[in-house]
Amino acid sequence: MFEKLVIASNNPGKLREIGQILAPLGIEVMPQSAFGVTEADEPHGTFVENALAKARHAAGMTGLPALADDSGICVEALGGAPGVQSARYAGEPRSDERNNAKLLEMLGERRDREAHYYCVIVVMHHAQDPQPLIAQGLWRGEILRMPRGSGGFGYDPLFLDPEFGQTAAELAPARKNLMSHRGKALALLVDALKQRG
Ligand code: IMP
Repeated sequence: MFEKLVIASNNPGKLREIGQILAPLGIEVMPQSAFGVTEADEPHGTFVENALAKARHAAGMTGLPALADDSGICVEALGGAPGVQSARYAGEPRSDERNNAKLLEMLGERRDREAHYYCVIVVMHHAQDPQPLIAQGLWRGEILRMPRGSGGFGYDPLFLDPEFGQTAAELAPARKNLMSHRGKALALLVDALKQRG
């Protein structure tokens, strides 16, 4: 097992959450920005390829093991869109508000509004690691016709968890972390790290 892990993200919320979850394993996380690593391109058509590209880039630039994630929302009636394009669904510059407006427009009055958030997290021990650790998480829900709630980010105000009857933007952050695609993937990653260790 390693003691230091570079996180291929500059999102402070993600860094904090990953750091807290990995601390009990004795793993110290460091943002790639601490090494001057810039964001890698995400040109691929699958989440896992994009995550691997980000982790390989960070591991190559730092010489340390690296963790990267990639996530998005997939709407069944739209053939899985926005998918890997979630962050820039309505184009550049990225805007949660315009992305949400486009999603509502694309769905229109459709009754089939099933969707899921998806997250994949990978750890590469070095840039040429042929056996990266890969963990995935999925969160099923549906897309509302109007936004609800003020927490979270991205598509959260439109994403209803039918079991809880609340949107991801209405759930308390700790509960969202437990139920979410990212939370599930992180829990599986911890198991994989323990097994490998
Ligand atoms: P990334 O994996 O951080 O690049 O996230 C991709 C995009 O997917 C984000 O910009 C959001 O639009 C969307 N997304 C991923 N996870 C979530 C979430 O937990 N809530 C809301 N939107 C999310």
